[in-house]
Amino acid sequence: MAFVAVKVFQASDFMMGTAGVSESSAIRWHAMADRALAGDPLDRQDALAILKSTDDELLDLLSAAFRVRLAHFGRKVHLYYLKNAKSGLCPEDCGYCSQSKVSDAEIPKYVWLNEEKLLAGARQAAALKSRTYCIVASGRGPSEREVEHVSRVVEKIKAETDLHICCCLGLLTPEQATRLKAAGVDRINHNLNTSRRYYEQICTTHTFQDRLDTLRTVRNAGMELCSGLIVGMGEVLEDIVEVAMQLRELEVESIPVNFLHAIDGTPLQHHEELNPRDCLRVLCLLRLTNPATELRIAGGREINLRSMQAMGLYAANSLFVSDYLTTKGQPAEEDFKMVADLGFEIIVGDHLPQAESCSTNGCSTSECGSH
Ligand code: SF4
Repeated sequence: MAFVAVKVFQASDFMMGTAGVSESSAIRWHAMADRALAGDPLDRQDALAILKSTDDELLDLLSAAFRVRLAHFGRKVHLYYLKNAKSGLCPEDCGYCSQSKVSDAEIPKYVWLNEEKLLAGARQAAALKSRTYCIVASGRGPSEREVEHVSRVVEKIKAETDLHICCCLGLLTPEQATRLKAAGVDRINHNLNTSRRYYEQICTTHTFQDRLDTLRTVRNAGMELCSGLIVGMGEVLEDIVEVAMQLRELEVESIPVNFLHAIDGTPLQHHEELNPRDCLRVLCLLRLTNPATELRIAGGREINLRSMQAMGLYAANSLFVSDYLTTKGQPAEEDFKMVADLGFEIIVGDHLPQAESCSTNGCSTSECGSH
């Protein structure tokens, strides 16, 4: 796929609109919502138009995305809780990652947490109203011993709680995926992070194709897919569109949208924070291109969306609660309050997110992580 490089996506991106809000703007975004609800997929041109929309159009765009969110997820919010089961010491060179061999970031470094600590993490996830417990380990991929360790822990968590389990362990072999599925792992996270075109700019020790292969391996083993992106790494708008389209093609069940948190000591440390309106446009893009897919505001939420975090939930239906892999999140109580202030509801139950019927609009359809 050839790209026309328009411009690099960063804090200075997207010009303010000067023509004022026009009626045609509202009609345009709601027409896209109608198509998304009718199962008529948006094309790349539509998707790019969303990212290029002006600030004056932002509320119309969010309103359109919210209609799609309401149809598929109502006012429900799913929380995810992360446990960094193995930190740092990674031989890979992902430029955004504080755990990489090329990072000088001051982070805790340790090999696998023991069973007791991982079980304690599951109890903390439940205490913080999380529906899913995410077990994340740094590294290119797990050893057989590590897969066995996490599998035994997952079996115990499943026996004790009704949490859903998502594991993020790097590249997986078919045998490893089969073992994890047998242990009760519901879902594997493996982010695409950026487009195939831009991938070698952020990592040279494995390829975009390696990541696609692991996602296909996971699918073949019968587990759900969680895969998303990191926005703000110097990519162009077309790269973001490309990832959105690729995730739709893969029919992933969950999309975490990370906004780069440029950590001191990493190769991307000097990247500026994004402006929150750009972040909202990206969330709207993902909602309108992947209408029925769980959409999570992931790492970098607090520092990039800042005072507009709540507005992100008009497009997204999920959040990480508490801390990220090596950075702090805002206190859980602030997330609970934000959800309540929106008039939304945290859902803790054991139902996997899926489309719901919506009689009001005629719809008949029923780091993280950054590893
Ligand atoms: S993202 Fe994962 S594979 Fe890449 S450097 Fe970080 S821990 Fe290693």
